[in-house]
Formats: sequence, structure tokens, C-alpha cells
Amino acid sequence: MHMTTKALVLREVNYKESDKILTVLTEREGRMTLSARGCRRKNSPIAAGCQLLCWGEFTLYEYQGRWSVKETAAERLFEGVRADLDKLALASYMAEAAETLSEEGQPEPELLALTLNCIHALDKLDLPLAQVKAAFEWRCMSLAGYEPQLEGCAVCGREEPEEPRIHLGEGLLCCAACREKLGEGVSMPLTPAALAALRHIVWSDRKRILSFRLETEGLRLLGDASEAYLLTRLERGFRTLDFYKSLSSPAGKGN
Ligand SMILES: [Zn+2]
Repeated sequence: MHMTTKALVLREVNYKESDKILTVLTEREGRMTLSARGCRRKNSPIAAGCQLLCWGEFTLYEYQGRWSVKETAAERLFEGVRADLDKLALASYMAEAAETLSEEGQPEPELLALTLNCIHALDKLDLPLAQVKAAFEWRCMSLAGYEPQLEGCAVCGREEPEEPRIHLGEGLLCCAACREKLGEGVSMPLTPAALAALRHIVWSDRKRILSFRLETEGLRLLGDASEAYLLTRLERGFRTLDFYKSLSSPAGKGN
């Protein structure tokens, strides 16, 4: 059986002498595991397409229940990301998160578009990395069914909570003074501007989620909360996130 689909390579693992096992997010079938035979050989026609973070058209064939790559036509290699270790590390983390939040046989067009948009932003737009990271985290969690409830304080109902906080376990907003009544668990502070940015990320059209500006402190709080929210709700860590955070050059990270 043959199939042609657009796909983004989320993970690559070398296998045998010249092969790779790829995890990809496809337009048609959601997440798939592919074997890419011979793609590490010199002059392999599928080498370019079978790299981490490549976006392109894949022609696949199935044999005994396994899918293999027959042909690839790479459309985006995101060279600007590959050339910058911070960006590459962040994009790899977004890819690992997308892998975690997707399933085999379950198309995830919004998650795929979000991941592509954010990698494109790292490649072409001159935004603080912390902004792209926070927007990706909040939005992918919303897509995965963990959308925080941001209409107002969950206790007193105030639309603009005073000294706003977000409760990680519940995904609820509250005022600092109302915090006690929300029960146990960790909550994290936001500035009013960071809350406005959070609402923009979660509520706006997908194409606009990165069009906000935040000063350094607000961006730091928004990003601290987004990362903690994702890790708390998914109850796991990410090797790629640990690596991103271990990098020493904070210049473009915005924190
Ligand atoms: Zn309140």
C-alpha cells in the first residue's frame, strides 16, 4: 500500500548502519513511525527530507504493517533554526511536546499548524524565544484539552483579578486575595499585561497568537507559568526542555 502525505519530522533515531527511524506528524494520519532505509548513505535521495524538523511531502509504502519512506520532497528545512543552537533546542522541545500530544491514526491539523507556525517564527521572525515558547506551550495545552479558564477570578468573579494568579492543577485564574479559597496546589503570579497576553494566546485566531508584546518581567512570568502548567498537567518532563534550559546564552530567550 502506498500513501502520500505532508509531514513534519518530530524525531529521528539512527538505526543500523545507514537507516533512521523517524517519528513524524502527518496531515492525514496524525503521528506515524517510519523507517527511512539507507537515508544516511551518501547521495541517498531521501536524506534531505529525513532530518529532524524537515517539513515536506512524503511518499510512503507499507509492508508487513510497517511504513517506510519511499520518496521525499523537502519544502522547509528551517535553516535559520538549524544554524542557532538555542533555536534548534527550542524547536526540538516543541517537536517532542507535539509528539507527546499527538496519536497514531488521529489527524491533528491544529497541533501540526501550531508547531509549524512556531518553528517558522523561530526561523524567520525576530521575536524573543521566550515569547514563542510561552505561546506554543499555552496554545498546545489548550488544543490538548487543558485550556485554562481565563474569563475572570474563579472565586470572586472579577474580570480583571487583582494581582492575578493562575492555579496550575485546576487551570483557573484568581486574585491573590482569593487564592486560599481555590484549594491546594501550586499557583503562579502573572502581571495584568501577562494575563492579557495569555488571553490573547488562548483566545485569538491561530495565525495571530504571536502578535503581542510584553515587557521583560511580564514575559518571564508568562513563560514560567506556561512551562509549569505544561509539566504539571502532563505529569512528565522533557529531555529536550532540560537541554534547552541548560544552554547558557540567554540573549534571545527574553529572560
Ligand atoms: Zn477574586
